[in-house]
Amino acid sequence: MASRAFEGGCLCGQVRYRATGEPKSPGYCHCRMCQRATGAPVTAWASFPTSQVRFTGEMRAYESSAGTHRCFCANCGSSLATMNADSGTVALSIPTLDEPERVPPAVHVWCSSQLPWLWIEDGLEHRER
Ligand SMILES: [Zn+2]
Ligand SMILES: [Zn+2]
Repeated sequence: MASRAFEGGCLCGQVRYRATGEPKSPGYCHCRMCQRATGAPVTAWASFPTSQVRFTGEMRAYESSAGTHRCFCANCGSSLATMNADSGTVALSIPTLDEPERVPPAVHVWCSSQLPWLWIEDGLEHRER
């Protein structure tokens, strides 16, 4: 039996997405680009093959590094996805899922820029990058 799809969307409801299959490498990201793009001290992403994710609604994209586009709602600006053309993957923002509790992050990455006042002692692996 196929597992239930993962659905989510932006704050205003204009953009919705649906992903099938199993999320890969769900994790927290502490990098400076995610901090700037989301306005949050840390965010969490889970990857899917691009072919398994469908978006509806109008998004805009910003190329934050070569081949990597950060996609956000054209109306409310919610940061929803990071698309990487080379790897053919889309990282969906776990907090924007309708049921974010279904995808627990398993690792912390880019802890070299973790904010010094943010203490997280959850027992997960913390990677420098
Ligand atoms: Zn929106
Ligand atoms: Zn990041």
